[in-house]
Amino acid sequence: MPLSPEQQAEIDTLRATPKPTLRAVSEGMEAHLYKAIPVLDHGFVRVIDYMGDDAAICQAARVSYGKGTKSVSNDAGLIRYLMRHWHSTPFEMCEIKLHVKLPVFVARQWIRHRTANVNEYSARYSILDREFYIPEPGALAAQSVVNNQGRGAVLEGAEAARVLEILKADSNRAYDNYEAMISDEGQQGLARELARMNLPANIYTQWYWKVDLHNLFHFLRLRADVHAQYEIRVYADAICSVVADWVPAAFAAFEDYRMGGVTLSSKALDCLRRMLKGEEVTQENSGMSKGEWREFEGVLGE
Ligand SMILES: Cc1cc2nc3c(=O)[nH]c(=O)nc-3n(C[C@H](O)[C@H](O)[C@H](O)COP(=O)(O)OP(=O)(O)OC[C@H]3O[C@@H](n4cnc5c(N)ncnc54)[C@H](O)[C@@H]3O)c2cc1C
Repeated sequence: MPLSPEQQAEIDTLRATPKPTLRAVSEGMEAHLYKAIPVLDHGFVRVIDYMGDDAAICQAARVSYGKGTKSVSNDAGLIRYLMRHWHSTPFEMCEIKLHVKLPVFVARQWIRHRTANVNEYSARYSILDREFYIPEPGALAAQSVVNNQGRGAVLEGAEAARVLEILKADSNRAYDNYEAMISDEGQQGLARELARMNLPANIYTQWYWKVDLHNLFHFLRLRADVHAQYEIRVYADAICSVVADWVPAAFAAFEDYRMGGVTLSSKALDCLRRMLKGEEVTQENSGMSKGEWREFEGVLGE
């Protein structure tokens, strides 16, 4: 369960007591504030706080004294220009603070993004909950035969059932032993900071994660991408749905130029120009390696 009834009640209380402010407010983001978006079997993402909106990006770009906005279409055009030309610092004027509950093996990938501020739940101080990520049957897949860093066909039948059974049994056994080791009934009880080393990487942790919009877009570009592991991608997708409501113009520009766009090498661009002139270009006469050519064909949708 992502949230206990007590935690949900705290969120409801916060949402029931709005305060007036002189600060810029994003209506789309206000609708998300504090609410948990469930992710995986026990995880969630929720917005704790934010700063700025689309207008704040324009305000910074124009170094304006006032609101910085001219008109919605004018602002959207400026934001697209900034995104297109990698003028990134105006996007850094917006910030978001998230509370994320996620399996430890996902957290290890996430923490590689060094440009955020993080504070994690302390398993030295507190006892971790008995909550483990157990994949849905559709997410339980075989090793990919074409990509060493990926998964292929979904596991089926007895093999899928056996894998699920192993995951559940090992997780519970490890947690039973964790509880037995830290217990102070009839024994000293092992320190929590030591007992946790025996827990599996599918146990859930939690953190507060604060990042500016420029670096968040970098994170989303990598982690909402089809090449990212499914278990982190679902978190990135949840964050994308929030950002789309928070800064709609900036997110639309990000989707267009970053998520939907590609960077072509000069060789690839040259091949494209030759193709447009009607020349038959193949991998052999392209100047590209087989891997580059395969990816280039993928970009062209061939
Ligand atoms: C599909 C995929 C597969 C991956 N596979 C592996 C793997 O097999 N092994 C592995 O170890 N990692 C792997 N990674 C992690 C990857 O190499 C990066 O560490 C991670 O994506 C964070 O990217 P980043 O450094 O650009 O992000 P951030 O840390 O958020 O940094 C953002 C940008 O800030 C700048 N920056 C930040 N800190 C520094 C610094 N100290 N010095 C210079 N510039 C800095 C860089 O320009 C950087 O791009 C993988 C990532 C993805 C998306």
